[in-house]
Amino acid sequence: MATRVFVGLGANLGDARTTLRRAAQALESLGYGLELSPLYRSAPLAVSPQPPYINAVASFYTAWPPEALLSLLQRIEARFGRFRRTPGEARTLDLDLLLYGQAVIRGNGLEVPHPRILSRRFVLEPLWALAPDLVLPGGTAVVEALRRVADQEVAFDAWC
Ligand code: ADP
Ligand code: MG
Repeated sequence: MATRVFVGLGANLGDARTTLRRAAQALESLGYGLELSPLYRSAPLAVSPQPPYINAVASFYTAWPPEALLSLLQRIEARFGRFRRTPGEARTLDLDLLLYGQAVIRGNGLEVPHPRILSRRFVLEPLWALAPDLVLPGGTAVVEALRRVADQEVAFDAWC
């Protein structure tokens, strides 16, 4: 049985748009029915100077269990040269497992829904673009969550 999952894609080093396009192509191998949000651009949350982030959200249906799916996402991150040093550091590619159907998972190094969905407009905006009627586990509608972070600056970007 397949579950609809949402994956957050982010990059702020190198040719971020090309990296996201290639990473999205790689996601096709993990399931079926891949859909991609528009691209968005946002200022990094880090204190030290960094290039802007380019973000998108992908959704697809997969039969992989959550832990295996996270490993596969990390393999794709590694393929695109991600260096995992300190959290918040600039990176060529960040793939986050945002949602796995309505599952709530806490433990073994995996947290789903991703713990920072509700606080990040650069996640909520593309999530809403893909699934405007989505209600998160816990009962918050994406559209309502988005209203709460409306003060954060996020701009449309283009895929090319
Ligand atoms: P962030 O995405 O918050 O900037 P990282 O990508 O460096 O941070 O992830 C830090 C750790 O979070 C990883 O080691 C990963 O195993 C763990 N993690 C836990 N839950 C998730 C999830 N839902 N999606 C992605 N990574 C997760
Ligand atoms: Mg991550």
